[in-house]
Amino acid sequence: MEKKQNNGLRTVHPWQAQPQPITNIEREETYDIVVVGAGISGCVAAHSAAEAGAKVICVEKSNDITANGIDVGAIGTKLQKEAGIQLDKDLIARLLYQWGQSQVNYNLIRTYVDKSGEIFDYYCDLAKSKGLKVSLNSQNTARADWDTLEDRFKQFRTAHKFSDDERHYREDGKFVNANFVEMVRDAAKEHGVVFSFNTKAEQLIREKYGCYGDGENQNSGNGGRVTGVIVSDSSGYKILNATKGVILATGDIGGNKEMLECWSPICLRADRNAYAPKGFNTGDGIIMGMWIGAARSRCYPAPIIHAVNFLPLAAGMDTSWLTVNREGKRFCCEVAWEPMVTNARMNAPGNKAFAIFDSNYPEHAKKQEPIKFASVSASELHAKVEKAVQSGKIFKGETLEELAEAIGVPADNLRKTVAQYNKYCDSGFDPEFGVPSRFLCSVKDGPFYASLITSVQLAVPYGLHVDDNSQVCDEYDNPIPGLFAVGNVQGDFLANSYPVTVPGLNHGRCITFGRLVGQALAKS
Ligand SMILES: Cc1cc2nc3c(=O)[nH]c(=O)nc-3n(C[C@H](O)[C@H](O)[C@H](O)COP(=O)(O)OP(=O)(O)OC[C@H]3O[C@@H](n4cnc5c(N)ncnc54)[C@H](O)[C@@H]3O)c2cc1C
Repeated sequence: MEKKQNNGLRTVHPWQAQPQPITNIEREETYDIVVVGAGISGCVAAHSAAEAGAKVICVEKSNDITANGIDVGAIGTKLQKEAGIQLDKDLIARLLYQWGQSQVNYNLIRTYVDKSGEIFDYYCDLAKSKGLKVSLNSQNTARADWDTLEDRFKQFRTAHKFSDDERHYREDGKFVNANFVEMVRDAAKEHGVVFSFNTKAEQLIREKYGCYGDGENQNSGNGGRVTGVIVSDSSGYKILNATKGVILATGDIGGNKEMLECWSPICLRADRNAYAPKGFNTGDGIIMGMWIGAARSRCYPAPIIHAVNFLPLAAGMDTSWLTVNREGKRFCCEVAWEPMVTNARMNAPGNKAFAIFDSNYPEHAKKQEPIKFASVSASELHAKVEKAVQSGKIFKGETLEELAEAIGVPADNLRKTVAQYNKYCDSGFDPEFGVPSRFLCSVKDGPFYASLITSVQLAVPYGLHVDDNSQVCDEYDNPIPGLFAVGNVQGDFLANSYPVTVPGLNHGRCITFGRLVGQALAKS
């Protein structure tokens, strides 16, 4: 992966070396604002800037917009108020900051917490005016009563979706959130935004800096304004001048193996990357930014790793079960799935772990999630689990020894682990990991079941160091004139782990900062 520089003395990553200047540029266009990337944050930024009167182009290296997932997290929306959901903004801000282990910028978090509701309401009204349904998503991610748990397990009912049914995908196979991003793209076009697909941003242009300036300020932190972007398309290179500024919205680093090796190696232990094969999330914004003197965030990336294929989850039982490693030993806090269980799985010996449950799983599921499973019958759950057993996706043993053999863990260890765990269940107190008693489900009555725990990488948010306004900064914390970052390439908002405290947080912050930055830059 490492490359030699021309002098052959040092080995460097692409983001550590200056690029070769691009000289064969024959075309030039001028806009007020250039947005790089047509994902959720780029589309919102472009729309908001154009709506505020700016002449905007949004360049996208793939042939279409990017839209993933379902949930959009927002706080204090009209929909929440109508449903009687009261959210404590101060508490949410404190918990998000705590998830970032004091490495993140509290002011960015506070802006999201304070502004996401009204910004969501604006798009909710726009959706309704276009006949699009918007609803609270309390079925899947924002569990109805997890805001009553102790702080480290709390989840608030922040998730909304631009649809009113339970499906994650539309008829055309696209995620439900495509309803939102397509709506914003269309609204942006109505305001005159030019979308240029199959157009890759290659390098930023900054006055008095590096390849395109006199270079004198390259290491001083004193470079000038970012005045545009050099892009490539099927006709070659062109300069897009940006009289007001450039907004980077290039997404996460999950598709860049070299970056993951350097900054988030645990991600390489995920079973798969949900974004592949699209794979356009290669951290281009970080590289282009660093080439003109921007600093990358001093936090570590915050991978979004879900247990997408975890079988009890697939069977509608996204609940907590005794989890053991390949030694048959308990090793993690089983609440909540992501990131707790998925992170621990990726760091477990052999990168393998199993969830273990007994034949009382229907009652246990109801104990864990009384609201969700109120109307689900035991026979319904039984049918799903047996189907998974038949297809070899769930392991079953009449005895614990049989189960241990089926999953290849030492039977002695499994027996001891289960005996110890059952004591915690009986007493309602888990001294090891502090799993709340409601989620402690004993493993006593055969047949016994095991399911492999999977870890699927959705996105690996990591970005450039920004100030409170999401303006990109240099190593000396000086904002770089004319350069902003939104979405996953906005650093300093998340660190180390993705907080599930606020379901839909990432889409929520993409929309919040996309809109705020787009509007502010247009008016600047
Ligand atoms: C399967 C899946 C499900 C998810 N579900 C949820 C969910 O329910 N809720 C939630 O909050 N989050 C969810 N996420 C995470 C969330 O979707 C992303 O974090 C979010 O889309 C990031 O938006 P973005 O605008 O920063 O980047 P992206 O949406 O990734 O868009 C970045 C765009 O920039 C383009 N680009 C990159 N480099 C260049 C370049 N050099 N030139 C031009 N264009 C470039 C890319 O092609 C891409 O289109 C999910 C993610 C996945 C993969």
